[in-house]
Amino acid sequence: MLVKMSRDATPEEVTAVEEKLHALNYKTGKMVGEEITLIGVYGDISQLPVVEIQEMGGVDTLIPISRAYKRVAQKGTAGNLIHRAVRLGNLKVGGEKLTIIAGPCSVEGEVQIMEAARIVKEAGADALRGGVVKYRSSPYSGWEGIGSTSEEALRNGLKYIVKAGREFGLPTVVEILDAADLPLYEDIGIDCLQVGEVNSKNQALLNRLRDTPLPVIHKRGNSLDIEAYLLWVERVMSAGKENVILCERGIISPNRYTRNTLDLGGIAAFHYQLSCLPVAVDASHGTGIRDLVHPMTLAGIMAGASAVLVETHPNPLIAKSDGFQGLFPEQFAGLVKACEKVWELRKRIEAHYIPTVKLDRKYEARAEADKKRFYGSA
Ligand code: PEP
Ligand code: MN
Repeated sequence: MLVKMSRDATPEEVTAVEEKLHALNYKTGKMVGEEITLIGVYGDISQLPVVEIQEMGGVDTLIPISRAYKRVAQKGTAGNLIHRAVRLGNLKVGGEKLTIIAGPCSVEGEVQIMEAARIVKEAGADALRGGVVKYRSSPYSGWEGIGSTSEEALRNGLKYIVKAGREFGLPTVVEILDAADLPLYEDIGIDCLQVGEVNSKNQALLNRLRDTPLPVIHKRGNSLDIEAYLLWVERVMSAGKENVILCERGIISPNRYTRNTLDLGGIAAFHYQLSCLPVAVDASHGTGIRDLVHPMTLAGIMAGASAVLVETHPNPLIAKSDGFQGLFPEQFAGLVKACEKVWELRKRIEAHYIPTVKLDRKYEARAEADKKRFYGSA
């Protein structure tokens, strides 16, 4: 944070601001210009009494210089990225291995989710997903998830997926819609909570998730700018929670052909520039077209994702939700194989990526000479 003093601030006013900051245990550094004095404030500025400082004599404005999402933010430097791995059951998302989380859009019954779990396991994927309560755009769709009608129904739906996951040694990922349901999800043994697109900025739900020990996959809202999204994720982490996973699942754009527009640039920005958290790519919701899920999932891995979220169903033709984007079992098995290959490739070629800050400064040093060589004048 920089405190910019006004042009007519007196030396006494500058000293008073410095003393106030020191009393609050901040270190400061002063830059005295011809007309303006700037005071740099170092330390955890989330605790800074901004209004109080702003109102002190001689203060013009406070200029934030670090990102508002401190916990989500990249911890290293552009030349030396530091990423965090998140435990999901027995898995480590963002570790050495790619994590593939797959399953149907909805848990539809005991037999269906058990069969889905078998498909997921046999293909070589790592975790089982399935929604128990579903958001639907139409109130007449007739299906809001197996757990939507009562607490008993919710409990049973959650039990089905946990049972299927345990049968095949797959940790489970289930979307939570209502903060009040958290104890039920925890008690029944769900391994990871998903915050869906519609709840990406649901303040009450995100606040409640601050104190669950379970990892959270927080999907990006389809109209949230990258920085706004990260600030919502910061909310979940703001009291010290660390096990959060980002998820790009497509945003709104002029495209009508695909259900959403998968923001691959966003994935690269999260991974290579903005965040220490692992990123998941969800090309199922990101494209909404079964035959585009495979190539776009692979593109997401190349862009920087270390986890994949994908919908597959024992028979997508009769799925109760999102069947049009669900992979048939053979397609899913093919995708898992391709994902592993792309992951290996990314790891293998990582050393060829040279962020600009790591480049030799020779280009700056020779800029004047090059201007003369190329354009004839400096
Ligand atoms: C889902 O994962 O099934 C889902 C509803 O996704 P989203 O919230 O991204 O639309
Ligand atoms: Mn879905």
